Amino acid sequence: MTGPAIIIAIDGPSASGKGTIARKLAAHFDFAWLDTGLLYRAVGLAVIRSGSDPADIDAATTAARALINSAMITKSFTEAELRSDIASVAASKVAAVPAVRTALLQFQKDFCTHPPEGKKGAVLDGRDIGTVIAPQAPVKIYVTASTKARAERRFKELQQKDEHVTYAAVLKDMEERDARDVLRVAAPAKPAEDAVILDTSNMTVDKAFAEALKITRQKLG
Ligand code: C5P
Repeated sequence: MTGPAIIIAIDGPSASGKGTIARKLAAHFDFAWLDTGLLYRAVGLAVIRSGSDPADIDAATTAARALINSAMITKSFTEAELRSDIASVAASKVAAVPAVRTALLQFQKDFCTHPPEGKKGAVLDGRDIGTVIAPQAPVKIYVTASTKARAERRFKELQQKDEHVTYAAVLKDMEERDARDVLRVAAPAKPAEDAVILDTSNMTVDKAFAEALKITRQKLG
């Protein structure tokens, strides 16, 4: 690899479309992709598996340190387990623990500076990529959408798995999780000052990706 790796930081709330945008950007540029939410989801599930409460600071810290040392990170759970609602709620609880964030910090920074497989760049998506993990990233996009649009997307997704789910319950869950992410003291979810805001409320997936690609090209020159 010649020169430092190119970092694309994608942040935003759940169901904003940030994960899809990040994955597509990585494929487009042949960069490595890291969905950092999976790290917090894995820690949350590990705490539950150990029989503890994800909000328990000591249990969450122990799980984060063990997971990062085992180099297994997300491999300990299936994709379906990691994407479950139980995992997302647990993730937003362990993510509020400063020692958990510290334990996961270096892994994410290393991914940025030395993307796996000798890739020339890395795309990371999460809540604090542009603010904490990679403030030096030349491209920072904060992907967002109205709470209503995000809850509707999530509701449609969940309906395919569980016919008993209600829109009201999904909306309530989302509002609670958003509040935990935004109000926490440790790395609260917020756009970096130099991030470009991309509101996908009224965009199709293709349109949102096209906009993100345009922003990225402009920033990379
Ligand atoms: O993005 P995703 O919904 O998978 O993230 C799950 C939870 O993990 C978020 O609600 C947030 O609390 C936490 N998270 C975080 N920082 C990141 C990525 C995720 O705090 N970089």
